Amino acid sequence: KLHNSIQELKGNIRVFCRVRPLIGDETLGNDGTLQHMNFPDLEGKILELEKIGDVSLNESTISAARRGNNKYEFNFDKVFQPTSTQAEIFEEISQLIQSALDGYNVCIFAYGQTGSGKTYTMEGPSTGDPATIGMIPRAVMQIFDTVRGLEDNGWQYQFEASFLEIYNETIRDLLGSLKEEVKHEIKLAGQGNNEVVVTNLTIVPVTTEEQIHSLLKTAAQNRAVAETKCNERSSRSHSVFRLKITGANEFTGEKCQGTLNLVDLAGSERLKESGSEGQRLKETQNINKSLSNLGIVILALANKDSHIPYRNSKLTYLLQNSLGGNSKTLMFVNVSPKEENFQETLNSLRFATKVN
Ligand code: ADP
Ligand code: MG
Repeated sequence: KLHNSIQELKGNIRVFCRVRPLIGDETLGNDGTLQHMNFPDLEGKILELEKIGDVSLNESTISAARRGNNKYEFNFDKVFQPTSTQAEIFEEISQLIQSALDGYNVCIFAYGQTGSGKTYTMEGPSTGDPATIGMIPRAVMQIFDTVRGLEDNGWQYQFEASFLEIYNETIRDLLGSLKEEVKHEIKLAGQGNNEVVVTNLTIVPVTTEEQIHSLLKTAAQNRAVAETKCNERSSRSHSVFRLKITGANEFTGEKCQGTLNLVDLAGSERLKESGSEGQRLKETQNINKSLSNLGIVILALANKDSHIPYRNSKLTYLLQNSLGGNSKTLMFVNVSPKEENFQETLNSLRFATKVN
């Protein structure tokens, strides 16, 4: 009974935790395991952290997860160990991608500190190795494969893609000219229709998978240009890839419309407000605020609150139609296996279990 009600409360929100492997010269503990991380249950839903060295922790942020002697336990819908492959992870989200074709609005987020594997998960590295392809291209592949299979049943689909970045509460069009003069605002489409639109945003009708890949490339190039102008920009901005899917069946007259939003969030590391000033301080406060507002919105939705504070940040305003209602949300919490990241890992897990 109790279990049911928790499931109901959670509604259409799922949270997956992914621990990336050690990379480069990062090393394991003496016994060849991650000493401070345990995966205790067979079902793969629990991540346990154990404080072993003398890491100093900010106790106030973690008391809720405490399980006695320096141990902290967190429950997720799924915990992916460092050995998990991109294919294994995609398998767990493939139904959700299908939902976007079925007419749902879907949001998939990657949350975590810089270096924890968010971009690896969402986009994949640019190694060209098919095994490492990320969730965005896999999702696109699945959608186009599925649609091809539905043609004989009379279904015709149209796709519109956009890709933007929210940096310091300002929207940038990753598919357009990066001119500073071009301003983008979020508006409601109006006429009783709650659709959220972004002014001056490039929206590309796409008919093939290859077109989407070339858009992803354009976005990556635009981001690289922005990055050289402002160091660390990509870790301090949210990027939102959106695919609007409209389907119509020429035999039955059925119609459906869904949206897939794939969001690589700004690094969640607590940015110190002390020490920075001016523009940098404002930027830091904006990032902290927009991530915490995302948590507040998701929590409010899970609680079925009557007021959801979508408009407190650009990100949630932009996504308001894809969060709540009958839309579906998945959050990846990416964490680092490094012991020196213990506190940040705890912060991320704690944020995510609140959302969970
Ligand atoms: P973030 O986007 O959170 O800042 P990245 O995705 O850039 O982090 O990952 C940081 C580094 O770790 C990159 O070099 C990336 O290739 C590597 N990495 C992340 N996740 C994995 C993984 N699952 N397997 C192998 N390497 C990974
Ligand atoms: Mg990244």
